[in-house]
Amino acid sequence: MVKKRFIAGAVCPSCSASDTLMLIIESKGSETVECVECGYEASEPESKPAAPELDEGMIGLFKP
Ligand SMILES: [Zn+2]
Repeated sequence: MVKKRFIAGAVCPSCSASDTLMLIIESKGSETVECVECGYEASEPESKPAAPELDEGMIGLFKP
């Protein structure tokens, strides 16, 4: 199953159009970014934002 969704606020590096980039998530888990305006395509290798370690720290501090 392939999921597609638009990336809000994203600007295409190829045609500079905004809100035309779609994130395509394949069943394998690989992610591809595609521009519906110009056909620009790019794989998205581990560009996930680093998870904030704040939660872990807060749990550590919060001991009853
Ligand atoms: Zn484009």
